[in-house]
Amino acid sequence: MSANHIVVMPLDESLLKSVQGRKVVVKVTSEDELNRCQDVFRSVGVDLFAVWFVSDKPLSELNLSESLVNLPIALYVPKVGVFAEAMCRLPLLHKLNIKIFLSNREQENYVMLQALSSLNVYCGLYFDSPLMDAEEMTDLAHYYLYSTSPHAPIEPFYYLMEHYDPAGKTDFSGVYFDDIHRFVHMDKEGNLALSASDLEHGVYIGQGPGQINAIGENKAFSARANKWQALFLENSDCSTCEGWRVCLGKFSEQSGEKGCEQVFVEMLEGIEGTRRMRKGGKQIWQS
Ligand code: SF4
Repeated sequence: MSANHIVVMPLDESLLKSVQGRKVVVKVTSEDELNRCQDVFRSVGVDLFAVWFVSDKPLSELNLSESLVNLPIALYVPKVGVFAEAMCRLPLLHKLNIKIFLSNREQENYVMLQALSSLNVYCGLYFDSPLMDAEEMTDLAHYYLYSTSPHAPIEPFYYLMEHYDPAGKTDFSGVYFDDIHRFVHMDKEGNLALSASDLEHGVYIGQGPGQINAIGENKAFSARANKWQALFLENSDCSTCEGWRVCLGKFSEQSGEKGCEQVFVEMLEGIEGTRRMRKGGKQIWQS
């Protein structure tokens, strides 16, 4: 499994050369860096999974160009900004291979995602706050799962719908390059971590590309992979949650009073119902 790990890393020529032969996600934080990507990739020859562009500017202030058309881009922006200006970019957004993620910190983003999706822009919510707005999240899930008007995918609902395992658990962490079974994160010094957050906080599990193959044998990897079991041993709210199979305790900080269970239970029902309809399975009362 570890031999297949995708490396999430900065745009750095020598570092990219050191992981040649592996798939990479290149993380950039400015338009300048984004615009340099293709030149660097041409000179190094990378096996690109995606470019992860994390910007602190709103969508309406970003300068994206048609020259990026061949790059698969996951764009994280805090919000849309001035809607009319952002919408001037709509023809370009339709040409680019881009998914636009908005932060869960801004309440307006839940409605903005409905707007983007209805305008045929692949989009999603990213969680830079451990607390979500349960009501807004439920409305957004309802829109994605039940709206009969044409609309583009919204993450993480789209992932859950497409990868749902009716007999087990479904983890949508991979949408955010945060699935430890698929991604490993590396900084400019070659430090390795299990998530972008660990890397940022100096929680390393190794050093250098040579150690990537051994990640599966690392104790920290096993501890993280089995972390969900602690929720049951501790008898936490998550241990009795009916939505656990698709949440896996990601919002445990707001479990209990704050409605996260209801969000995921409704999501689960919506996913199961929609998949049943897709299959065209006959219900007993229809015969
Ligand atoms: S929805 Fe809330 S209670 Fe349920 S598993 Fe997720 S965090 Fe835990």
